[in-house]
Amino acid sequence: MTIEPATAVHPARIRLERLAKRYPGAALDAVTGIDLEIDPGEFVCVVGASGCGKSTLLRILAGFESATAGTAIVGAARITRPGPDRGVVFQDYGLFPWLTVAENIAYGPRQARIPRAQTRTRTDEALAAVGLTRVRDSFPHQLSGGMQQRVAIARVLANRPAVLLMDEPFGALDALTRTTMQAELERLHRDTGVTVVLITHSVEEAVYLADRVVVMVGGVAHGSPGRIREIVPVTLPRRRDTSTPEFNECERRIDALIHDGGS
Ligand code: ADP
Ligand code: MG
Repeated sequence: MTIEPATAVHPARIRLERLAKRYPGAALDAVTGIDLEIDPGEFVCVVGASGCGKSTLLRILAGFESATAGTAIVGAARITRPGPDRGVVFQDYGLFPWLTVAENIAYGPRQARIPRAQTRTRTDEALAAVGLTRVRDSFPHQLSGGMQQRVAIARVLANRPAVLLMDEPFGALDALTRTTMQAELERLHRDTGVTVVLITHSVEEAVYLADRVVVMVGGVAHGSPGRIREIVPVTLPRRRDTSTPEFNECERRIDALIHDGGS
């Protein structure tokens, strides 16, 4: 029997070139001219005002939505549909309420016809990775919001994704739980080396987590297509202290990029 180490992901590179998306019937592109290359194992956060096209970008990466111009590549392949190489986590946990925690996590590998023993190993490892071994036989409704979101993360980890795509994953959680989840996600990223693209409203969350922060501006509601204004590298040493002047300086800089008109 092959034992897969918990770290057995093969992080993928993401390449977006001149990417644009116009929804049917819309007068403007929701996003336009998106050029972005993300290294394997990199942690990228996307910030920007509501409506600037963050979710559109993520849904294209996930394969739920197709671009109307340009190219989107993950690993060696063009994105044409959803796939187990890209795990997606949304704000609402999307768990199956009639399955236990362990069954929710095993669902993906079972769908992919991974042999039973390996599915069990993966499930156990994913449970351990998010600290939920104790509640493996509980049902989602018996868990707190933070725990449910851990299940959602474990569920995609069990597919051994090359890329983790997260859209406001902690948006529904209280502040304290959110802080805990951020630290756990940072540890998970360090342990697995998976490539992460995370959308957030919180600039603090972005500066805490990201290697680079993609700042988007514009948006159909503001009369212009959403686009990348700037990509800000965050070079602060990891396990970042949100209270240092350097951290705050970085936050202020990104806030200014989001809010000062987007020219
Ligand atoms: P964000 O996530 O940054 O708030 P979205 O990507 O959700 O932005 O939306 C960007 C723009 O595209 C908005 O103007 C929104 O109304 C529009 N939009 C999003 N989804 C659809 C859709 N399925 N059909 C038509 N327009 C959409
Ligand atoms: Mg959104």
